[in-house]
Amino acid sequence: MKAVGIGIVLVALWSCVVSEIYEEADPCDTSKCFLPNCRCSDIRLNLTLNELEIPQLVSVTFDDAITALIYTEVIDLFKKIVNPDGCKAKVGFYVSHEYTDYSKVHSLWAQGHEIGLHSITHGTDSDYWKHATAELMMEEFGQQIDIIERFANINRKDIKGLKVPYFEISGDNSFVVADKLGLLYDASWSTQYLTDPGLWPYTMDYRSIQDCPIGTCPTASIPGFWINPLVDWTDDFGNKCVMMDACVVEDDSVEGIFQMMMKNFMVHYKGNRAPFGLYLHAAWLEKGDHNLEAFKLFLQFLNEKPDVYFSTPSQVIDFVKNPKTGIPFDNCRKTTRESCRSRLCPVKKESTGEDRWMTVCGQCPEVYPWLGNPTGKAQKKTTRRTRSTTKATTPLVKQNKLPVEDVSQTQEGTASNSRLLFPKFTRN
Ligand SMILES: [Zn+2]
Repeated sequence: MKAVGIGIVLVALWSCVVSEIYEEADPCDTSKCFLPNCRCSDIRLNLTLNELEIPQLVSVTFDDAITALIYTEVIDLFKKIVNPDGCKAKVGFYVSHEYTDYSKVHSLWAQGHEIGLHSITHGTDSDYWKHATAELMMEEFGQQIDIIERFANINRKDIKGLKVPYFEISGDNSFVVADKLGLLYDASWSTQYLTDPGLWPYTMDYRSIQDCPIGTCPTASIPGFWINPLVDWTDDFGNKCVMMDACVVEDDSVEGIFQMMMKNFMVHYKGNRAPFGLYLHAAWLEKGDHNLEAFKLFLQFLNEKPDVYFSTPSQVIDFVKNPKTGIPFDNCRKTTRESCRSRLCPVKKESTGEDRWMTVCGQCPEVYPWLGNPTGKAQKKTTRRTRSTTKATTPLVKQNKLPVEDVSQTQEGTASNSRLLFPKFTRN
């Protein structure tokens, strides 16, 4: 009964069609789960391939706002890096909305880099995400797609993945939301135990073997939705770190930092060849005296290896769908001619009254786009409602403004229902 009730509310909220129900996941059955659309969670890619002949994929991803400065820095780092197949190296960005320069997001996308979601508000802390309802997550990520599509002039079909801030897994919520949004994969889920050998990407059709060091494990079966696991590094003191910039080095010299990176890389390269992630915040490159230098040296070292390929997260999934030895991809990642009339817009952030400068492609928004108002329309001037998403999300915005404790209480009543029997929607 309750599931039906939730379904009615959600239909009203998202104007979608209920097509099926998420079931509780069963243990993985290899006789029923096979590529390209189903894969059991496993530390082995394929038993018929010699592991040391599997190309080593390296995924470099940057989290948070993309500013003009970060853009220049990253472009500079990767401009000379070409993979052994002759294709230019591409990286991933999990973009958070605030302070992001959308003309630079457009430019990165046009150059073939991958743009992923990292939410509109980024939340205040991990508790925000721990207690976030599926409805709030739908706003944070669904409306972020609207923002990116409109202000960075990017086709929403090219947005494939999401990373929840603080790597906070709150049961099924973020995965269900990502699936509803038509995304291909999640990149929020870290593992501390399946690091040596590392866990390969897999789908959520069946129950996962992955540990949940941050938050509550999901239990739903979400057919065809991929997990790009964040395989933790181990720092010089034996601590696990999800982001490489959180790893602590004993010797803060270029050589010391380089060696820490190398040690973690070799676990993958000499092991099962599970994709190696270099997950960081661009700001780390400017911290300390040696980070940037060590990072450059490490990229150069990787690039000299004949079987190391810099790949975006969705390229990693593509490879896992069709695993092989030798050259991993049939084609270079698609690039597009830039199409962005860049404009610097003075706008007010209505929730705080702050003045902001926002760089966008095309038309300036009337106010700073935010949760509940992704198009940045000045609410008072609007004579009629523009889109159903804006209309539908109004109550949820109010909910987001509640203190964290209140959000938590709101969540308590719905968590168990939404966890097990969340109505699934098709993207329309
Ligand atoms: Zn972040």
